[in-house]
Amino acid sequence: MRHRIAVVGGGPGGLAFARVLHRHGRPVTVLERDPAPDARPPGGTLDLHEGLGQLALDKAGLLAEFQELSRPEGQAMRILDTAGTVLRDWRPRPDDRANPEIDRRQLRDLLLGPLDVQWGRGVTQVVPGAEDGALVHFEDGRQETFDLVVGADGAWSRTRPAVSPVTPHYTGVTTVETSLDDVDTRHPDLARVIGDGSVAVYGVNRKLVAQRNSGGHVKVYAQFRAPLDWHAHLDPADAEAVRSGLLALFDGWAASVLDLLHHGAVFVHRPLYVLPVSHTWTHVPGVTLLGDAAHLMPPLGAGANLAMLEGAELAEAVVAAPADLDDAVRAFEERMWARAEKWAKITTAGLERLVSPDPAQAVALFDQVQPS
Ligand SMILES: Cc1cc2nc3c(=O)[nH]c(=O)nc-3n(C[C@H](O)[C@H](O)[C@H](O)COP(=O)(O)OP(=O)(O)OC[C@H]3O[C@@H](n4cnc5c(N)ncnc54)[C@H](O)[C@@H]3O)c2cc1C
Repeated sequence: MRHRIAVVGGGPGGLAFARVLHRHGRPVTVLERDPAPDARPPGGTLDLHEGLGQLALDKAGLLAEFQELSRPEGQAMRILDTAGTVLRDWRPRPDDRANPEIDRRQLRDLLLGPLDVQWGRGVTQVVPGAEDGALVHFEDGRQETFDLVVGADGAWSRTRPAVSPVTPHYTGVTTVETSLDDVDTRHPDLARVIGDGSVAVYGVNRKLVAQRNSGGHVKVYAQFRAPLDWHAHLDPADAEAVRSGLLALFDGWAASVLDLLHHGAVFVHRPLYVLPVSHTWTHVPGVTLLGDAAHLMPPLGAGANLAMLEGAELAEAVVAAPADLDDAVRAFEERMWARAEKWAKITTAGLERLVSPDPAQAVALFDQVQPS
């Protein structure tokens, strides 16, 4: 029996799900709110771990292409103190393929491949228990029924309320993101500070991270503990006002580090929200969640990896148990919850140490994770 399956969201999780189903010749409807693939800037580079995101790509038959595109040298990580002194300078071995980086746009295009995504199909609500499946409501007022609706629609999921009343809460840590282009030619001094991968500078309750993407593009993240309305007196569209606000917050840091903020042109405010560490729900036939929709956690290198592996595993479960879709989904959920809980604990504890009153905590965490 061929089930009517829809996935809400064409992020890493939704696309991995759809691509593995496609590999097995199973039809799937991908519903994406964005009107086109490049409707929004895609965001920074992602590191994909061997046993998580890379495993998902293997299940999709895309590992070799990923290895061609990804940047193993991007795993390099440098830590400075606020005076600009290098505390750690870790570089991967040439054959190290544990966590190579890939630009989000490249990953998306790799996963998209032959998939026929329905762009501009924002979902407003998913209602389980419809006679012949779950009913999907769209922004344009239309409705459609599917046997299984997979909510891979991220932090502010419109699918989630069908299975769980829980909503994300603010961590107390916020991020302001900016970026630099052509860093090697336009800002060679900063390029040297950043190196091949990332540089992180830890201060009291704040940090600055710069991460190299391909083509000389660099994403810069200023992260700090603050109330949600810390910028209430600032016009977020006024780049100079935001820059001054940030420079005041990072006052006293080395000029070579603050140049990361001086050269950014546009600043985007991204407060960090999370779901509870152990977010589960009573199984609802016809609807499930994966990725950030199921387990939003601090962005410490796990979210996209988990979303992709879950997408791939759910697709395989659907393929392996075509007669008993509901049992397959139940088993998938149990497995996802157990793994996500483990990572939510790790990343929550990690955020506490990386944006901490004691910056030495961040260096100690690095030494624990990446012993030289
Ligand atoms: C600064 C930063 C750095 C990060 N770095 C890493 C990293 O290195 N490694 C890592 O593993 N993770 C990283 N993450 C986390 C990672 O980005 C997320 O965990 C991951 O994108 C989640 O994937 P997803 O498919 O679940 O959701 P998303 O990527 O959020 O995708 C959801 C999709 O659903 C669509 N959508 C939303 N609502 C609707 C709707 N109502 N109807 C239809 N479509 C909808 C959206 O347009 C989007 O395309 C980082 C996060 C941040 C913020």
